[in-house]
Amino acid sequence: MALLDRAIVRLLPAVPRPVVRRLSSRYIAGAELADAVRVVKQQNAAGKLGTIDVLGEETRDAAEARAIADEYEDVLETIERERIDANISLKPTALGLRIGRELCRENLERAIRNAAARGNFVRIEMEDATTTDDTLDLYRELRAAGDENIGVVLQASLRRTMDDVRALADLRPNVRLCKGIYIESPEIQIKDYDAVRANFVALLDALLEAGSYVGIATHDAWLVEQARTRVAGLGRDAYEFQMLLGVRPELGERIVTDSHRLRIYVPYGRQWYEYSLRRLQENPKIAGYVATDTLARLLRRN
Ligand SMILES: Cc1cc2nc3c(=O)[nH]c(=O)nc-3n(C[C@H](O)[C@H](O)[C@H](O)COP(=O)(O)OP(=O)(O)OC[C@H]3O[C@@H](n4cnc5c(N)ncnc54)[C@H](O)[C@@H]3O)c2cc1C
Repeated sequence: MALLDRAIVRLLPAVPRPVVRRLSSRYIAGAELADAVRVVKQQNAAGKLGTIDVLGEETRDAAEARAIADEYEDVLETIERERIDANISLKPTALGLRIGRELCRENLERAIRNAAARGNFVRIEMEDATTTDDTLDLYRELRAAGDENIGVVLQASLRRTMDDVRALADLRPNVRLCKGIYIESPEIQIKDYDAVRANFVALLDALLEAGSYVGIATHDAWLVEQARTRVAGLGRDAYEFQMLLGVRPELGERIVTDSHRLRIYVPYGRQWYEYSLRRLQENPKIAGYVATDTLARLLRRN
């Protein structure tokens, strides 16, 4: 299967742009903020919350990083004006982490203070393992500075994550828990599928035990089931499920029907093509998921 996934990825640059656009339109709201607003409105009408992500990572200079921060200000202003139920998700490298930590912190602070003034919330995403320490340090610094409307992401596939949960416990962090999309070396990453699942469950237990609000971010039906038994008895506002736009919508429907909160991750941006290609090249497994899903939908249609 891994071979097939890699073969699909190698063929991707040869796939005409309009075809990639059609394939990715299921997972990406569109090129403009108005597209994200439209999609979040649809999600809200169906009883789901949103989190908006401006596509763009690894900015090359400070001006580019500040432009992304400006765009997030527009997003926050638009969320308030349009009265949609959504917060924002942002990537530290898009805000300049690789250019300079201070630049990233300034941009993060801008987004967080802007969100706080509007009663909104900022999720700082987790990227590859070279950024984990800086991202968690920034989170701790911002919390120490009194910013409460922020959360981080922890990746269950990393061996270090239980230690991170223990180290952060005093902050009762708001955590999005996911498996982790980046491929790392076996020294730092668990490669066995079931062991990642087991770690996810152990981390969820530890976070709930510490009184954290957890965003349970997965499309793995087995994990969703495990999580449901663990949150039984908790108030509806003590946790939420999270899923990516377009992925396993039938599982999302079940979560909502059972009265759990579900937040849908809604990415948009002019860099949709570069983003789609890079994501698939970084993790060929996703290319396999997309190919299987597209094929299944085509077969259902015929
Ligand atoms: C809201 C949200 C935010 C996230 N934020 C981060 C982050 O900040 N950092 C990070 O490293 N990772 C992030 N992730 C990605 C996450 O780490 C996983 O890589 C991803 O969710 C796949 O893992 P899974 O738990 O769904 O289980 P899997 O076992 O990988 O997937 C279960 C099933 O879901 C379907 N599926 C899963 N992902 C996709 C996809 N992309 N396209 C099509 N079908 C798919 C497939 O049918 C698959 O069989 C996020 C995920 C979500 C839902």
